[in-house]
Amino acid sequence: MKILVPVKRVVDYNVKVRVKSDGSGVELANVKMSMNPFDEIAVEEALRLKEAGKATEVVVVSIGPAQASETLRTALAMGADRGILVKTEAGTEPLAVAKILKGVVGDEKPDLVILGKQAIDDDANQTGQMLAALLGWGQGTFASKVVLEADAALVTREIDGGAQTVKLTLPAIVTTDLRLNEPRYASLPNIMKAKKKPIDEKSPDSYGVDVTPRLKVLKTSEPSGRTAGVKVSSPAELVAKLKDEAGVI
Ligand code: AMP
Repeated sequence: MKILVPVKRVVDYNVKVRVKSDGSGVELANVKMSMNPFDEIAVEEALRLKEAGKATEVVVVSIGPAQASETLRTALAMGADRGILVKTEAGTEPLAVAKILKGVVGDEKPDLVILGKQAIDDDANQTGQMLAALLGWGQGTFASKVVLEADAALVTREIDGGAQTVKLTLPAIVTTDLRLNEPRYASLPNIMKAKKKPIDEKSPDSYGVDVTPRLKVLKTSEPSGRTAGVKVSSPAELVAKLKDEAGVI
């Protein structure tokens, strides 16, 4: 059983993002970049399945600039076995990523692909679903629990007002939600070991995929600041304000 985990290099979630002065996007120069948090959860889940003897190999793949190899090294330091860097300087949209991943799946023949439910930079929440459609595989999105059987995966999904469990015939696609697990930190010895693990380098052309963006960003703007709150002296005043000023009741 082989597991493929796509990991994306994104602006670190602790960074307060700033919009470029020309409004063409967010500032990426001199900004700390890290692995997308949902992808850390995906790597962790794959490693736990390997440690439980359910999987034999965990392969990580990243599509992005040369520095995306650092993201792969982080996954290798957590415990993944090897990496694939699909190098491109072009901004990657979910459809192009899904097409490249389809090519990687064709080469690697994994039994399970675990992706994050969304990348926190573009918040698209599309890649896993598109990959499942392109491959014609079953998908368990927003997973909060994954149980592997011989030829199936039982995936408990976070849905409005509760949880749903679906049974997927393998090979299949899973996307991770926050409650699935708490990712480990890489230990220093494992960070050293990861330097020797192999990273194979490819390009979108290796899979015959054109990554030219299909979308044009027209404008990016900062959210407007919050206005100051007011203190009310009684429940009656609160109700009056909600009725007359806010118009919500
Ligand atoms: P998105 O559909 O962009 O919100 O991304 C969902 C998931 O797809 C991410 O959590 C990653 O697992 C995967 N993914 C998206 N873009 C990339 C990329 N450039 N390289 C590797 N994985 C990616």
